[in-house]
Amino acid sequence: MNSKRILIIEDEQPIREMICFALENAGFEIQEAADARQAQVMIAEALPDLILLDWMLPGLSGIDYARRLKKEDLTKEIPIIMLTARTQEEDKVQGLESGADDYVTKPFSPRELAARIKAVLRRGGPPAEDEILKANELLLDTASHRVSVAERLLEIGPTEYRLLEFFMSHPERVYSRGQLLDRVWGSNVYVEERTVDVHIRRLRKALEPHGHDALIQTVRGAGYRFSTRV
Ligand code: CA
Repeated sequence: MNSKRILIIEDEQPIREMICFALENAGFEIQEAADARQAQVMIAEALPDLILLDWMLPGLSGIDYARRLKKEDLTKEIPIIMLTARTQEEDKVQGLESGADDYVTKPFSPRELAARIKAVLRRGGPPAEDEILKANELLLDTASHRVSVAERLLEIGPTEYRLLEFFMSHPERVYSRGQLLDRVWGSNVYVEERTVDVHIRRLRKALEPHGHDALIQTVRGAGYRFSTRV
């Protein structure tokens, strides 16, 4: 199992408990802090593998604390996921500029949070554990890069694979074409937004014979979402 250590910094106890419960069930080892000061004490004792940091904290704000963590040699490599109740695009940008590796907007599902944590852990630092992502009968094996439905392997191109892996580790969330370009193609690559549509079409086609193309949903005026709900 996974024994990655996650430090949760969140002042609202019910939210902290909910997260703890969900992440312990997902196999993580959890430490809790109610503010940045408590967190500093814990970090001095043992470095966590990832920090979940609430935006709105008493005392030093989450965003200022993220900046500080990313400046110090001891902590700058630790991935940070910001928890935010804000939905404004500019706040997200500010959050990522502070050095956070990802953000999750409240309210979020425990499953989604666990998937995001695994994705961030996989992205940075030493290789995280191999993982099998699942949605209905669709399986994606991150170790072998194989995708299958009901044990039948699918033919899938490299870009479609990356797109599908991103979607399956970020379910139930709408991503604009621009966001998908940043996250799947990389922000340094110049690709037109309609490229995303092309690869979405190919991905759906690969999934179609198995009836799983409906997992890739078009959200009008917003982008795309991976969802097992109709
Ligand atoms: Ca808070």
